[in-house]
Amino acid sequence: MPHTVQVAVNNATLHFDKLYTYRVPPELEGRVPVGGMVLVPFGRGDKPRMAVVLAAGESEELSARVKPLYDAAPESACLTSDLLRLVEFLHERTFCTWYEAVKTVIPYGAQYRPVLQDGRPVLQKQLVRHTQPQYRLAVPLPEKPRPTPTQILAVQLLRDGPLTGEELQQAGVSAAVADNLVKKGVLEKEQVDKTLDLYAHIPLTNETITLTDEQQAALDALLPALRAGKPHAALLHGVTGSGKTLVFLELIRHTLELGRTALVLVPEISLTPQMIRRLKENFGSRVAVQHSALNHTERLLQWRMIQQGGAQIVVGTRSAIFAPLQNLGLIIIDEEQEHTYRSESSPRFDAHDVARLRAADSGALLLLASATPSVESYYRAARQDRYQLVRLTHRYAGQPLPPVQIVDMRAEAAAGNPEDISQPLADAIRENLTNGQQTILLLNRRGYRTVALCQDCGAALKCSSCSVPMVYHKAQGQMLCHYCGKTIKPAPTHCPQCGGKLLYTGFGTQRVEEELENLFPKARVLRMDQDSTSRKNAHEQLLARFAKGEYDILLGTQMVAKGLDFEKVTLVGVLGIDSLLFSQGYRAYENVFSLITQVVGRGGRAEYPGRAIIQTVSPGHPVLQLAAKQDYEAFFEEEIGFRQLCLYPPFCDLCMVGFSGEKEGPALAAAARFSAILAETARQNWPRLPMRVLGPAPMNVAMVKDLYRFKLTIKCRNTNDFRALMRAVLARYGEEGLPAKAAVTLDFNADGDM
Ligand code: ADP
Ligand code: ZN
Repeated sequence: MPHTVQVAVNNATLHFDKLYTYRVPPELEGRVPVGGMVLVPFGRGDKPRMAVVLAAGESEELSARVKPLYDAAPESACLTSDLLRLVEFLHERTFCTWYEAVKTVIPYGAQYRPVLQDGRPVLQKQLVRHTQPQYRLAVPLPEKPRPTPTQILAVQLLRDGPLTGEELQQAGVSAAVADNLVKKGVLEKEQVDKTLDLYAHIPLTNETITLTDEQQAALDALLPALRAGKPHAALLHGVTGSGKTLVFLELIRHTLELGRTALVLVPEISLTPQMIRRLKENFGSRVAVQHSALNHTERLLQWRMIQQGGAQIVVGTRSAIFAPLQNLGLIIIDEEQEHTYRSESSPRFDAHDVARLRAADSGALLLLASATPSVESYYRAARQDRYQLVRLTHRYAGQPLPPVQIVDMRAEAAAGNPEDISQPLADAIRENLTNGQQTILLLNRRGYRTVALCQDCGAALKCSSCSVPMVYHKAQGQMLCHYCGKTIKPAPTHCPQCGGKLLYTGFGTQRVEEELENLFPKARVLRMDQDSTSRKNAHEQLLARFAKGEYDILLGTQMVAKGLDFEKVTLVGVLGIDSLLFSQGYRAYENVFSLITQVVGRGGRAEYPGRAIIQTVSPGHPVLQLAAKQDYEAFFEEEIGFRQLCLYPPFCDLCMVGFSGEKEGPALAAAARFSAILAETARQNWPRLPMRVLGPAPMNVAMVKDLYRFKLTIKCRNTNDFRALMRAVLARYGEEGLPAKAAVTLDFNADGDM
């Protein structure tokens, strides 16, 4: 009986991602399991298209319309059942296409692409396999003919296990000698995947960690769950500098002792060099990394090493949650509130959700950690008993949290200080310079002047493709759109609308850098923002130089606020926080509270006490007051009340349906029609599903890259039923041909555009 497979193809669209049936040709018989990667003839002209097999079967009679597969990748490239499960999860939860999910769970280098060979479409690896020879001892060295000294050396070296050609060479045995022994049958040689010890320069220190009593108590509270090997989730709420990292290290050590593996997620790799260093120092080559700053080859080699069991610890960013570790015992999400754990392009997944699935599947301990947990996570821990709550309330070095002073910038202006740095902050910086101590300044806006306002019509100079003001970058003398990269050079002096004179105002990091240079000509200032760190490894190198004391002041966007642990930092300044305070989205307050607590926590972590200064035009704002006290509990009480009152997560889920199209009217009409289909489908088939639909309304940024953007916001419960409803609506939306008017995206509890 002929075999058939059902496949999902590459480049499908959300509302057009069904499974297609193909015949397995005789030459591929037995080579196309579920999870296999195949090449299929697709559409008019039978163009070759990548696809993944999701079901297999056989059928008595096949119509001639069922086409045969072009080619299949080797079985070694097949998705394992673990990876297939992640694919299914992404597809079900995030409304991505099947193939998008496939491309998310395996790295680019392990994927295949179509090529033509002798006029026939076949599959080819994206990256050639990097292999190297490996030698192992087969039989003892015969005494005759008398072996040479290097032959004896080679055999000695291999007594403890196989070595690669390169390792033998480094020990003084050339490839010629080794190959000669292979010919004699003494050694065996095989090609193995090349491995790559990234960060090999970090030495193994075997540090002995002595936990403080409080840290030990936290560890003890978590160990039973780790040992039980059942799914369990916990939240480690520890103030900044309390030594959460040390607790992680000990937990990982216990995990390995249990013969299991550990996964550590960090919000951004370049900002957490210290985490990698710590892991490497303690666990050496057992650590693999997975993050987007690796090139394709590095990433693939690390991935293969993980898959083949060569690493027991993986550290990485969001996508590392898909690392193919077997027997996972521990998943840590550090700084768990960070928005970087949510993907902003399809598949729009939240690493927390994938982590929960993996912990459930493998009986692992999921540990979320932060000084400022997300309100949702803290609610689950403190109010719902869904997460075990473990606390660290003291800083390791014994210093108190830095006291915070709030400076009223309106009063500063009234007192005649036209600068962006207030008098109290300037005095404090001066004092720090005199004492040889370091300062961190946070200003979450890059550029020089953040807006050009027309003095006649009052309009801001906006990008012609995006509905956002352009930012003045002084070094290039140009206006830059931070959304699409468009520039205007030279920066105009007059309003393009009415011809009125433009006033450049609002300050960014470049402007404050200049101000610092004027105020403190001798100070060594390091500016860190997207513009100054675009080179590869720039972050890491700049931070290392700051750590060595080559700079006095570190000024930057939120990249200076997180995770850094420098003992000489005793002053932290926060500038221009007001714009964040009044930004949109239900997480605005949470983000501000977290950002301030994080950056204030950079100070006074070692011997010397720290202090912090927040500049604001709204000194009485409750969130600033609470952040100044660094009182997370009090903040949580306020915030959870607000969330409940306004019906925001965790009291409901927000599903944002986005529509973007080239023409404003049709895009808006598509959104409205979607809303009508939604109401109708819900009434017909899911009448009791609780939900509230808001909109359509323009997104906060109504146009980006010449596309008009609208949204529907649905307050709902993200359940199987709700997702089934949305799937039905998407299908009808697709059938009516509306996608031609506006592409649609779905996102749950997103940060941005509400
Ligand atoms: P957190 O992540 O909670 O802000 P860290 O884990 O970075 O804190 O710890 C803060 C500092 O205190 C680090 O320099 C760390 O090495 C040090 N530290 C914390 N606990 C210990 C300990 N038990 N032994 C030695 N050093 C510690
Ligand atoms: Zn633009």
